[in-house]
Amino acid sequence: MATVVELAARYANFLVHPLPAGPGVCQVCRGPAKDGYPTCWNCHLAGAALGARVADAVVPVSLSLKGGQYAHELWRYKNTTGPQQRYFLTGLAAVLWRFLVLHEGCLARRCGLSGFDTVTTVPSTKGRADHPLREMAGGVVAVTRDRYRDLLTPTPEASALGRVPSPTRYASSALWGANVLLIDDTWVTGNHAQSASAALKAAGAKSVAIVVLGRYLNTGYGTTAAHVEQARLRRFSWESCAMRLGHHGP
Ligand SMILES: [Zn+2]
Ligand SMILES: [Zn+2]
Repeated sequence: MATVVELAARYANFLVHPLPAGPGVCQVCRGPAKDGYPTCWNCHLAGAALGARVADAVVPVSLSLKGGQYAHELWRYKNTTGPQQRYFLTGLAAVLWRFLVLHEGCLARRCGLSGFDTVTTVPSTKGRADHPLREMAGGVVAVTRDRYRDLLTPTPEASALGRVPSPTRYASSALWGANVLLIDDTWVTGNHAQSASAALKAAGAKSVAIVVLGRYLNTGYGTTAAHVEQARLRRFSWESCAMRLGHHGP
């Protein structure tokens, strides 16, 4: 059987490290921000709607570019069936697994924690019982499955909320001071993931950190093309850390 390192290897050809937070780069989601603003517009709106219940940290494994291979796989793993779906689910599970082995400790330290005791996923907007992201984090990935809990469900009003961030989009099972690692596949506006964070904190989570497989960017939109061009100058390396400078091993 192929190892996680082998299964994840081909992704190094097309994953793109997000730019570090700073002028022009949102300090929450690492997407493009207007000069002079610490966050992008969507992260600003989420902060205004959810306050301290937004996640304590957000880390994208990679950018996911419209029309690119990674965006293609992040779509395929949940919108196809049969062997093709298994292939992409297995590959993306290896990406998550490899990333967490190397950097979950860095994320915990950034949140001032020694680790995360609970892992959960943002529910599918389609509300399917067999969401492949849940299968990934709760079944395939050995470093998350023993801590996995199926905590969140969309509320009856979720569909009427559209893309607006809201503390009432999801309901969570009760948590007594848990430190939660919340996993999502694609971040477009971040409103679903941040609404999920708010529900977890309302249910008693002490802290919530989000790992997102792909920070989706439409390169045909506004200043995004220049942002992506700059990000692509840096070669992808699994050991490169999004949370502390330099490279490191597990
Ligand atoms: Zn942002
Ligand atoms: Zn790291």
